Amino acid sequence: MSQKTCRKKIKEFLSVEVRIASEINSDCGTDFFYAQTVHKKKGIEIMKTQIELAREGLITEAMTKVATAEGFGLTPETIRQRVAEGHIVIAVHPNRPEQKVVGIGKGLRTKVNASIGTSSDISDIELEVRKAQVAEAEQADTLMELSTGGDLNLVRQRVLAACNLPVGNVPLYQAFSEASRKYHNPNKLDSEYLFDLIERQLADGISFMAIHCGINRFSIERLRKQGYRYGGLVSKGGTFMVSWMEYNNRENPLYEQFDRVCTLMKKYDAVLSLGNGIRAGAIHDSHDRAQMAEMVINCELAEIGRDMGCQMMVEGPGHVPLDEIEGNIMLEKRMSGGAPYYVLGPLPADSGAGYDHITAAIGAASSARFGADLICYITPAEHLALPNEDDVREGVRATRLAARIGDIAKYPERRELEKKVALSRRDTNWKEHFPLLMFPEKALEVRNSRTPENNSTCTMCGDFCAMERGLSLFAKDITGDKKTS
Ligand code: SF4
Repeated sequence: MSQKTCRKKIKEFLSVEVRIASEINSDCGTDFFYAQTVHKKKGIEIMKTQIELAREGLITEAMTKVATAEGFGLTPETIRQRVAEGHIVIAVHPNRPEQKVVGIGKGLRTKVNASIGTSSDISDIELEVRKAQVAEAEQADTLMELSTGGDLNLVRQRVLAACNLPVGNVPLYQAFSEASRKYHNPNKLDSEYLFDLIERQLADGISFMAIHCGINRFSIERLRKQGYRYGGLVSKGGTFMVSWMEYNNRENPLYEQFDRVCTLMKKYDAVLSLGNGIRAGAIHDSHDRAQMAEMVINCELAEIGRDMGCQMMVEGPGHVPLDEIEGNIMLEKRMSGGAPYYVLGPLPADSGAGYDHITAAIGAASSARFGADLICYITPAEHLALPNEDDVREGVRATRLAARIGDIAKYPERRELEKKVALSRRDTNWKEHFPLLMFPEKALEVRNSRTPENNSTCTMCGDFCAMERGLSLFAKDITGDKKTS
């Protein structure tokens, strides 16, 4: 059966909602992904999303996997409750059975996203495939495929085939890129095409989408009326959408037909991540009226989407000074009813280009500490060039470290690993020490490049090793455990 016919059958299936899935499955073979997630009820099979199933009191396999992966005593029932409340989303895809199941939200480890993708200047599919593999090897939790150059369908499909991470994207990129090529004017994009494209990308295996539904006439008006924007507009998808709205003198179709967006996402149990198209790209713009207007709308839409049974996430900035990060997280959590928060760092300074993975890691440690749930990495190439493989590696490492630091503060009861690291370092027990580290290979590479005379020390202090001397002096006094009352 052709893909087109199969898709038509799926549409029919969904339009009547209740049907014996196996009838269609036998025709469509592996393309008919619903068969993998249908929920058996009273002898008939109905497609349900994770949030709908959770609200019915059902613990899905994905919820159990999330609980197992997280550890720390989190039970599948706790995950179910939080999914039902919309406080946790689970990135799954029914026709990618090998895909890693990733939970994002309340009480879970802060997750790290790596973004890759071609540009109009550099379009090398093999490079993007390798970058995806580097991101997975470096233990990113999710991947965003954000190509705007070359064969956009092919690069997405190659990246999906090359890794097992949940893959997200921004459908506006492809929509406006293709409109640019076809009409030499992205503002001529047919909004109906946008919805078709979203469905096609979801069917390919996309598990979460950043969609700019919260930009509307109201939020643009706030931007215009405030009279300044030091960093201008920095969201590619957001700026294209604003431009389309201005050119066509129309409301954002993704806002106007938000229920249609949710319905598409529900078909694939995908997570809808409400993009922040008017985010601040300079710390002096942080929390300006335009950004806040969009945030209010996104939080409102998160509630509407949840009520429709769609998994919802809200996206955040951007550039935010360190002293405003806590407030930013608090606002999102309060206004959205606790929807998982996906932030881009944030960057707490504008002047760190070349080392912006570090700038963003400082912001990310803070955002994770105050409740951000998924953090998009920033690479050393940020603001300068398309990242290469080394940039991806450094970006993931810096962001994982930031997320760990944030989690140490967010979950004080989960610090046991840090204690083990400290103890093995105090006791200069390198054999035990290095495997506990986040980056053992890098740590060993440095140590082995400058080996000490005495293996109980390192070449930093050599004979004057404070650790060794201190332990020989106070071994009896300091090797006990802290008394707890
Ligand atoms: S030599 Fe210095 S830096 Fe190295 S383990 Fe001993 S105290 Fe630490």
